[in-house]
Amino acid sequence: MFAETIHNQRDFFQTGQTKDISFRIQQLKILKQAIVDNEAAILNALKADLNKPFAESFLAEIVLVVKEIEYAIKHIKKWTKPQKKSTPWQFIPASATIYPQPLGVILIIGAWNFPFQLTIAPLIGAIAAGNCAILKPSEIACHTSNLIAEIFNQYFDKSYLTVIEGGVETSEQLLAEKFDRIFFTGGTAVGKIIMEAAAKHLTPVTLELGGKSPCIVDTDIDLKVAARRITWGKFLNAGQACLAPDYLLVNKKIKENLLNEIKKYLQEFYGENPAKSPDYARIINQKQFDRLVSYLKDIKDLKNGKIIIGGETICDELYIAPTLIDEISWQDAIMQEEIFGPILPVIEFTNYQEVIDIVNSHPKPLALYLFSRNQSLQKQVIAGTSFGGGCINHTMIHYAAPCLPFGGIGNSGIGSYHGKASFDTFSHYKSIVKKPFILDVKLLYPPYKNKLSLIKRIFG
Ligand code: NAD
Repeated sequence: MFAETIHNQRDFFQTGQTKDISFRIQQLKILKQAIVDNEAAILNALKADLNKPFAESFLAEIVLVVKEIEYAIKHIKKWTKPQKKSTPWQFIPASATIYPQPLGVILIIGAWNFPFQLTIAPLIGAIAAGNCAILKPSEIACHTSNLIAEIFNQYFDKSYLTVIEGGVETSEQLLAEKFDRIFFTGGTAVGKIIMEAAAKHLTPVTLELGGKSPCIVDTDIDLKVAARRITWGKFLNAGQACLAPDYLLVNKKIKENLLNEIKKYLQEFYGENPAKSPDYARIINQKQFDRLVSYLKDIKDLKNGKIIIGGETICDELYIAPTLIDEISWQDAIMQEEIFGPILPVIEFTNYQEVIDIVNSHPKPLALYLFSRNQSLQKQVIAGTSFGGGCINHTMIHYAAPCLPFGGIGNSGIGSYHGKASFDTFSHYKSIVKKPFILDVKLLYPPYKNKLSLIKRIFG
């Protein structure tokens, strides 16, 4: 069904236009202009989908993307330059060069939680590297998906960049086609489906997935600042962020004080009743709301854990209050999967090896946060655990630095992007050795007769 669209993009790619660096820069500038022109519409679409506060949308969905575009424009000439390398002396006379080349036609499948940014940010790398692309935004954030399609229809030639809207069926039809890379953002379960479909065509994949990201809190901290940063990272977008701290691992000695501070910041951020706050988002849809409410029901009915703050819900508004849970065990449903909502379980510990063992006994998370001034503990946690990326003494902000590759490991993803990493993701590095016709050493060629000992001396 989409074969013709892909065919048209392949034809466009073959014209070689996307290989021209000034074309790529021009398209990046058009993309930036399209975002600037449509800023208000983007903010409104995000408000309609998730009740996102404008300030949050502006920072996390617009500024982030615009900064990525500016970074790509600034560095593209350096990134695209052929890189000279030295050859082994036995090659002399020869030169060696690595040529970054575009891959061709890219499929980008986006998620609903940051529906604008997660669809557009990978595209920046695809454009910078000289590819054509098809975007499939998440159908669940339908206002943003419609708007992205509208914007692209207006600003770009379909045979270069286009948007195909739709749900699972559309994804499946797209996945039946051959692409030169599939860039997917979403859950681990769907990530496996994407990889299986891609394997049929040997299409390379980048998978930006999720997981349960721990937030470890030591005693050697600035309590207020730590509490403020944790509260912000967990409850931004009502916890619907792949990078949100999924659960707290807190030193028993500081737990009580930390929870009290988090309570204070919840009140400072969202007021007495967060349902009335203009700065608190809503759950995306009924399905996600019901899933999150079932955790709370388990806690209330089965007494698995204790709600220490929040727990209120308003079904009509898809509202779930910022909630903290204590006395939870690893066997409880909420600890079996990524929470992806405004519920924060708290687990206490007494020694650091225990913490490292907990992290290592679960699938590798997308992020890990450590709050501690203790440098040897910082080193111990970074070296002793495996996770995508993270912060020391903050949450989530590593995502916003274009100089840092962003991606998961193991169950939280394959590959990375942002800045140069995006360019690399959407490029093939073609290695070429160039030799003149002079000095053709016959030693290489058969018949080898008595050449072995000389070969050993020269090449061994
Ligand atoms: P999802 O996996 O349900 O959907 C993502 C995309 O895949 C959507 O466009 C959807 O239409 C498509 N899709 C869904 N089911 C499909 C199927 N069976 N076959 C083919 N395509 C299918 O994810 P989501 O609910 O949109 O997002 C939530 C998940 O994404 C969380 O796990 C979160 O951690 C993760 N996430 C990761 C990142 C990251 O950067 N690593 C960012 C945001 C979200």
